[in-house]
Parts: sequence; structure tokens; C-alpha cells
Amino acid sequence: MGKSVSVVVPKKGKKRMVQKRPAARKTKLWKQIPYVRDKLALPSRGQRKDQIKWKRTLPELLKATGTDIIRILRADKLLIKWEGKRCPFCCKGFLSKLQPYYDGSLKHRCSYRNCHKRMNPHHLHPLFTEGTGSSQKSLQEQAAMLLLKLHNVKQSSIHMLLGVNHKAVEDVERKLCRLRKEYVEAKEKEIVFGDGKGWQDVEADEATFDKRDISRSINFKHLLKDKNCPVLWEQWAGIIQRGRPHTLVLRKLTPKLTVKRAPGPGAVRRIEWKGIAEQLLANRKVVLHTDSAKSYRLKLPGVLHDRVIHCKKRVKVKGKMQWQLPKYVQIVSHKERVQVNQHTKVATFGWSVGIFAPIICTSFAIFVGGHPQGTKKGLPYWE
Ligand SMILES: [Zn+2]
Repeated sequence: MGKSVSVVVPKKGKKRMVQKRPAARKTKLWKQIPYVRDKLALPSRGQRKDQIKWKRTLPELLKATGTDIIRILRADKLLIKWEGKRCPFCCKGFLSKLQPYYDGSLKHRCSYRNCHKRMNPHHLHPLFTEGTGSSQKSLQEQAAMLLLKLHNVKQSSIHMLLGVNHKAVEDVERKLCRLRKEYVEAKEKEIVFGDGKGWQDVEADEATFDKRDISRSINFKHLLKDKNCPVLWEQWAGIIQRGRPHTLVLRKLTPKLTVKRAPGPGAVRRIEWKGIAEQLLANRKVVLHTDSAKSYRLKLPGVLHDRVIHCKKRVKVKGKMQWQLPKYVQIVSHKERVQVNQHTKVATFGWSVGIFAPIICTSFAIFVGGHPQGTKKGLPYWE
């Protein structure tokens, strides 16, 4: 028998000190700041998952009645109101309010006398499915599956938890990806760099994600031109305005095929960059910050170029060869603009890797969630 430990915390002494000590220690920075009235003076402690509350929970969705689940989904803007809309079957009548059907479900009814068709509230929905037979799932179950999917629960776990076929889970995943892709593509068209008044800082870079040897692939054989260069890369270019993270624009690049042991496909090609820059940056009054890739030297109206040097260089000064150290941060002046602070690799902890890769990764994961160009042409994007 082990010694029993009392749950009562003593009023004083060492035991109280041990049992009442804080779960986390204060950081050095926290202690250094004496007292500040303004909360913003302290760095944010980030989000703690155990303290976050989501609007909906699994029991709430699963326990909901037929009327409740429709109310919940409409409140969350996941379901539209079909009442009073024109019937999609006959295009003549109008749809009624939700009426109980003999099988216990709620349906709309068309008012046209030759149609009188009954329709589910989630008819033609991009995420929820209608159907009959064994594969039919109620709205509650489908909503629960969507919630689990949004929480990044594994496909196999969803299958075991909800008892749904793996194909149904894959279907939701695919539909979600398609929706996100369409959303990103629609939103991307609204993005405008610069404000047309003062000069704005814009950053551009490219990032490489995946490679594949296509020498034995039937699908990609038509791309293979040189037998010695069989490696196909997935490379994306990103442009973002400083201080406005929602202006991230991504473009898929088509880098050259390389030899097997190449470290990467190289920087963005001039011809590709020209198309992107002319479309997005020309005449927008922007200072473009890039790495030292030659392609970015392209001259455009309304675009000033700043580059940073990542590696040390050997230069001739007064007849003597000497090493020039890389300039990660430097103040440069433009005629049009007084001062620009150049940030780079070390200063901002990563240009290509630090800034763009996570933004591209997370925005893909959040918004696109899969291969933005479909799976046929490109490589399987997200693994
Ligand atoms: Zn009708």
C-alpha cells in the first residue's frame, strides 16, 4: 500500500509553496519590463489550444434535431435559404417553407402544379450530399464529419469515430479543397499592390516544394526532352506587400528539368517573372525587394528594385582584392522615396525559407488544401 496524499493544500510552509507554485515560469523578458499599462507593450503569448472555444462542438451537431441542424448550418452560413426561390427542376414554381416529409425529413415543395417536386434543404450543396440507400448520411453526420475535417482529424480516425466509409471522407476532403481553391482564385483577383499615392514596399521570392524523377513515369513522359535531366520540380513564386499579409499572390512556375543530383531548379526564370511582374507590379509605385537573382533586375515603369546580398563577394577596391561581407540589412535611398530599410535572410530569419515558405505552406494548407492546378497536370502537391 502506498502512502496516501492529501488533496488539501496546507495553509503555510514548504508543502504549500510546492503545491501552489505556478504552472509556468515567467520569462526573462516578462520580468525585465517593470510595469506597463498598455497590454500591447508585452509580446503576445500566442493561442493556447486548451483555452480556445469553437462555436460548434461534435455533440451539439450530432444531438441536433432536423430543424435544429438546419438552423445551425444556416446561422453558420453553410446552408442557403431555398424558401421563395425558383424551383431548379421546372424553373416555373417557387419553393415553399420546409415541410415534414413522410420519412421524417424536412423538405421544400415546388408550388407549380405540374411539378410539386420535394427538395432537400441541402440540394446542390458544394459540401453536403443527398442520396438514398446505405451510403445516405444525415445532415447531422455530414456536419460532424466536416467539423472533424476542419480540426484536421485523420481520415482513418473519422472513419472509425463516425463509422463512415473512407470514400465519403475522401469526398468531403476533395470538395473542401475545390471550394478553397475557388475562394483563393476569386480573392486573388481583387488583390492590388500599392495604393497609387506613396511608394509601397513589396517583396517577391520563389520557393520549391517537391521534386520527382519522371524518367519512368508514363504521365509525364511528354515533358522529358533530355535523358540526363529527368527531375521535375514544383516551384511557386509569391509576391506580398509589406504590412498587408492578405495581399499574398501565388503563381505556379514551370522550372526547367534538371539533372538527378541538382540541389534545386534555380531561381525564377526571367520570362516567367516578366509576365507576373508586368501583370501585378507595373505602374503600381512599388519598391520591390528580392534576393539577388538576375531575373528580378527586369526594369518596369513604377517599380524600383532593391536587392539584398546573401553571400560574401570578392571585389576590387583601389587595386586590391578584398572580401565584401553580405549585407543583410541596409538603408538605401531612392530619389522618389527617402529611405527604405532592406531586410534579408539573417535579419528577418529567412527570406526564401523564413518568410515565403511558411506563408505559402500555410496559405495553401488553409486556403487551397490540395493541388491548386488539379492532380492531372502537376505533381501531387501536399503530402
Ligand atoms: Zn418545380
